[in-house]
Amino acid sequence: MLTNRICKTTRQYSRSRIPEKDMEALQVIACDYCTVKNYIYRRYGGAGSLDKIYPGYTVQNEMTESGLRAALGLPSVYFYLAIFDALGDIKAQWTQVKEKIRAAAGRNENFGGADRRYLRFVLKVHVCFAAIIQGKEIKLPRKMKDTFDGLAGLVDRRRLDSYLKRQARKHLRRLCTEERNGFSISKKAYRYEKDGICIASKEPRKRIFIPLTDGNQYERQLFVKLYPQEQRLEIAVPLDVQIKSHMHYDNEVGISAGMFAMLTTDQGNVYGERLGELTMQYADWVQAQAKRHRENKESNPGRKKYYAQKQKRQAQMHCYINAELNRFFEEERPKTVYFPKLPGAGRAGAVRKHNLYAHMWQRGYIRRRLEQKCIEHSVALVEVYAKDISTICSQCGGFGKSVKGIFSCRECGYQGDAKENAARNAKNRGRDAQGRHEERTT
Ligand SMILES: [Zn+2]
Repeated sequence: MLTNRICKTTRQYSRSRIPEKDMEALQVIACDYCTVKNYIYRRYGGAGSLDKIYPGYTVQNEMTESGLRAALGLPSVYFYLAIFDALGDIKAQWTQVKEKIRAAAGRNENFGGADRRYLRFVLKVHVCFAAIIQGKEIKLPRKMKDTFDGLAGLVDRRRLDSYLKRQARKHLRRLCTEERNGFSISKKAYRYEKDGICIASKEPRKRIFIPLTDGNQYERQLFVKLYPQEQRLEIAVPLDVQIKSHMHYDNEVGISAGMFAMLTTDQGNVYGERLGELTMQYADWVQAQAKRHRENKESNPGRKKYYAQKQKRQAQMHCYINAELNRFFEEERPKTVYFPKLPGAGRAGAVRKHNLYAHMWQRGYIRRRLEQKCIEHSVALVEVYAKDISTICSQCGGFGKSVKGIFSCRECGYQGDAKENAARNAKNRGRDAQGRHEERTT
């Protein structure tokens, strides 16, 4: 089945330094959130609670009566979310346990066909699995019960059930979280305002206002991650993104990536022209900060400000990269993008000279964003073999060399922008490979 939606996480960042008092109030919530989750893991994570976790109302009711919420003084919006958060983890773990048992049973040569059919049925029907693990009577709807009895009649049930119990004990792990700097937040517990977000605190009617770097507003469950050392926070927003399919996107585009110009196409169009300049500014700043840090080692006031600044500068660069990638899609309208494999991190040669800049080059980030955006726009991203891609002539296939960004062919005399030449090679190689593939499959 084709799915036309994907999930992606976008992030929001606090704009200014978060006052200590507010950070403390948020940390208290995160801490309580962690306490509730660990309580749920302890109380309901074992085999004894297997029948309570689906759909989870029993747990919710028992937790309401437990008195834990009152003891912590945690607002119910956080309390119940922590419960369902932890229950989700427990359910996910049981799914994994069943998966492992299924695999182990598959490898076990002592089982015959009837044994396997019985085990498969039990692993598929949760009530059945839960009852067996807990040693309780199996209560199934009529039709299912007939199927079950039919399968059970052909096997040694005691042997298989104790196998299931042993395997479950073997694979079940005690869940526990140490996350004391983050919590989920439902839309009842926050409200966006102009330039920021108001987050419910433990004090009645008191909300904590956090200015954000963007004005986006979401209506869904968010995850707040605190960085107390750096006096900042990040909000992770899971988004369901509709994949866009553009009828008018029908071009084949070869690209080559660079440290200075982010992308150059086979037509010589450049996107992210200022990437090099921004990277150098960033690298120079990092170096200057490191020098200052070394010099003032004795009287060092901590690096909070440094991390906040670094974060901000990096966010600015990412913002630029994304805007330029968007422009690439709008203007090139690609159906297929041919992309040479990016050079590895430790590559010698041209990159070595600019070692520091190369290190600061957001190569991995660019690559990830390009991949993501191709998925979102239903564009095929075809990675091509990159060997000699910069030293071969896109016109005649002969060898040439690049001097100061200009490629000259030794064989046919062609001269042109080196990146453009490489992008053209990417397109040629990609097309050749695809052509061969089509020949094979037709
Ligand atoms: Zn040539």
